[in-house]
Amino acid sequence: MCGIFAYFGPKEKAADIVLKGLKKLEYRGYDSWGIAAKQKDGRIYIEKHVGKISEVISLEDSLTSPSHLAIGHSRWATHGGVTQFNAHPHADENNKVVIVHNGIFENYAELKQELIEDACLFSSETDSEVLAHLIAKNMDEGFEKAFQKAISRLKGRYAVLAICEDEDKLIAARRGSPLIIGQGEDTYFVASDVPAFLAYTKEVMYLDDEQMVVITKDGATFSSLESGKTIKKRLISIDWEVEEAEKGEYPHFMIKEIMEQKDTLSRTINTAEAKLNEIAKLISRSDRAYIIGCGTAGYVAHIGEYLFAEIANKEVIMRPASEFHLSARFLTEQSVVIAISQSGETADTLEALKLAMNAGAKIVSIVNVESSTMARISDKILPIKAGPEKAVASTKATTAQIAILTLLAHASANKLDEGRQLLIQTMGSINDMLNPRYEDHITSIAGNIMNVQDIMVIGRGISHPVAMEAAMKMKEVSYIHTEGFAGGELKHGPIALIEEGVPSVVIAPDDNFKNEILSNAMELKARGALIIGVSPENAEVFDYWIKTPSAKHANAITHIIPLQILAYKLAVLRQHNPDMPRNLAKSVTVK
Ligand code: GLU
Repeated sequence: MCGIFAYFGPKEKAADIVLKGLKKLEYRGYDSWGIAAKQKDGRIYIEKHVGKISEVISLEDSLTSPSHLAIGHSRWATHGGVTQFNAHPHADENNKVVIVHNGIFENYAELKQELIEDACLFSSETDSEVLAHLIAKNMDEGFEKAFQKAISRLKGRYAVLAICEDEDKLIAARRGSPLIIGQGEDTYFVASDVPAFLAYTKEVMYLDDEQMVVITKDGATFSSLESGKTIKKRLISIDWEVEEAEKGEYPHFMIKEIMEQKDTLSRTINTAEAKLNEIAKLISRSDRAYIIGCGTAGYVAHIGEYLFAEIANKEVIMRPASEFHLSARFLTEQSVVIAISQSGETADTLEALKLAMNAGAKIVSIVNVESSTMARISDKILPIKAGPEKAVASTKATTAQIAILTLLAHASANKLDEGRQLLIQTMGSINDMLNPRYEDHITSIAGNIMNVQDIMVIGRGISHPVAMEAAMKMKEVSYIHTEGFAGGELKHGPIALIEEGVPSVVIAPDDNFKNEILSNAMELKARGALIIGVSPENAEVFDYWIKTPSAKHANAITHIIPLQILAYKLAVLRQHNPDMPRNLAKSVTVK
C-alpha cells in the first residue's frame, strides 16, 4: 500500500531514477504520486500528479536539472481526497523541509491545531503534512535533531522520508510500515519493497520498527528512535532475479504469476524436513492452535483448518486476523498462532500477532517476503519461496501457502514423505493443466458470462474456502458481484438470489462431498442457474465443464488455479487492468 522510493548517489538524474523506482512500485496500489528533487544550489523542487505513473515519460524541467538526491511517493489516500494538493511530497511553507509518508499519524489533528496556532500554513488536508512543519520548527537545532524531535511527537504507523534545503542528508524512519535500504557503489536507495531497486543492487539493509537511518555521502547511520543509540546493520544479499519481478512476454503480472505455478511449488516442496517437524511438534503440544490471515491469506488459513483436521486430526482454528482479538484472550504460553501473509507487512495481521506476543504464545509465520516485519517477529518462519508477487490479486503465493500448510499438516501426522509425494504429483498435473488449450477453453466460458451482474461459487468441505477465495478473486479484478458459499448453506438464504442464467460455479473435486455438491448444483439449475462445473469428471448438470486434476488432499490447489484464470479472463474481457484493481493495494499496511 503506497510506495516510497529515494535515491542518494553520484548519478545526477536522481528524479528520473526515482520516477523509474515508483513505476516498479505501482503494483502496490495508489491514486496519486509525486517526486521532490534537491538541486545543486540546495533548492528543492516538487512535482505531483493525480493518476498513473506508468503513463509519464518525462518530468518537469525543474526536476530533471542535475540532482543527486530525490524522494518519491505513490499515495493511497487515507486522510484527504485524491487531489494534487494532497499528493506527497509535502513541505513547510518555506519549502525548506520536504517529506513523504506512508501510513497514518493518528494524533495529527491536535498537532495540526497547535501548528496552526503557531502560524504554520497548511496546504493539504493530509495527516502527513504536520511532519514537515514539525521538523521545520526546530531546524535551528540541526536537521537530525529536528527530525527526532518531530517524530517523537507522532503516534500511529508510518514509514517516512525527509530531506531539507540546508543539509545534504536523507533521513528515513519507520514504525509499522516497511522501508528497505539498498546499497550500491556510493549509492543508497530507500524503498517500500525490494523490486523497486533490484535493477541497481541486490545488497540490502532492513530498517526495523522504531529505527531511523541518516544517509549522507559518507554512508548510512542507523539508530534507535527511542534511545538515539547507533545500531549496526548487516548487509544482506537478496536472491530474487530482476526478471522475476518483470512481466516479460506476458501482458499482465497476474497471468504470468498464474503460469509460474508450474514451478513455484517445487521450491515450497523443498522446505527442510527438520523445520517442518519442529513446527509440527509445537502445534501438537499446544493447548490451542490458531491460524490467521486477511483476505486471500484468510481463506488460505481456512483451507489450512480443513487440512489439519483431515490429514492430522488436529483442530487448528481459523480466525480472520482483523478479528483475532476475540480469541487472543484465550491464548497462553502453550498456544501457537500460525500467521499467513504474502508480504509479511499486513497491518491487521501484525496487530493480531502483537496480541499473541503479549500472551507469550508461539508465533509461526508463513510468508513470501522473508525479511518482512512478520518474519522478524516470529519464533519460526516458513518461507513459501514463491518469488516476487506483483499483481495485487494473489495467485502463486496462495497456492504456495496452501502447499506449505499441506506439508505441515502431513508433518503433524508424521507423514511428511507422503505429503511431499502428493505435492510432486500435483506439480506434474498443474504442468499438464496449464496449456494454451485449457486457457482458451476458460476464455470462451468467460466470454459467455462476462456481462452478468452476479456470479455464485459453491463448494463443500475444503472446497468451501476455495469457493470463497475464487469469488474474491473474481470480484477483485472483474468487479462482477461474486459470492462464495458452502453448498449446504445455499438453501438457507443465498438461493434467493438465483434467477434465470445466473452463472454458478460448482467446485466438485473427487472427494466425500461430490454427490452432495452435485445435488446442490441440481438445486441451482432447477431455479435457472447456468452451471459451470470445476471437476475431474463431467456431470449432466454442468452447462460448462472445466476439467481439473484429481489431487486428493491437494485438491484446493488444483481447483483454485482454473478459477484464478477465469477471474483474470473476466477482468481482461471487461477491459479492466487485473494487476491494479480499483481501491485495492497489494500490501495493506494500514488498519
Ligand atoms: N495518510 C497519508 C495520506 O493520506 C499517507 C497515505 C499513504 O500511505 O499513502 O496522505
